[in-house]
Amino acid sequence: MSDCIFCKIANGEMGTEFVYEDETAVVFKDLNPKADIHWLVVPKTHVQDLNECSDELIGKLMAVVKKVTKENNVNSFRTVINTGKDAGQEVFHLHIHILSGHVNKSL
Ligand code: 5GP
Ligand code: ZN
Repeated sequence: MSDCIFCKIANGEMGTEFVYEDETAVVFKDLNPKADIHWLVVPKTHVQDLNECSDELIGKLMAVVKKVTKENNVNSFRTVINTGKDAGQEVFHLHIHILSGHVNKSL
């Protein structure tokens, strides 16, 4: 989607440094980190939220969570998916938060 910031980031249009990239997803640092480590796992295709996401894609994204944490020796972490405005979703392109270290529990 042309006006979606996470589409632009995932397409490489913003010059964002990726912690991880494969054919399905990119992982990059959150702009306003709520923990020592705060990464976002973002699919390369535009999917609004978890309700719009196929079971196959969410499976692949969770596999990326496991891979990127393992590769970076992040053994203890929290994952968050905000779905819908009332739940605190601000960017309407599906993303999985990965938080580790000192985590602000209010996220
Ligand atoms: P949500 O509230 O939708 O679950 O989370 C959106 C997250 O995206 C927030 O934690 C926010 O800091 C992050 N974010 C929003 N815009 C950008 C951006 O342009 N770059 C990066 N790296 N993170 C962003
Ligand atoms: Zn998008």
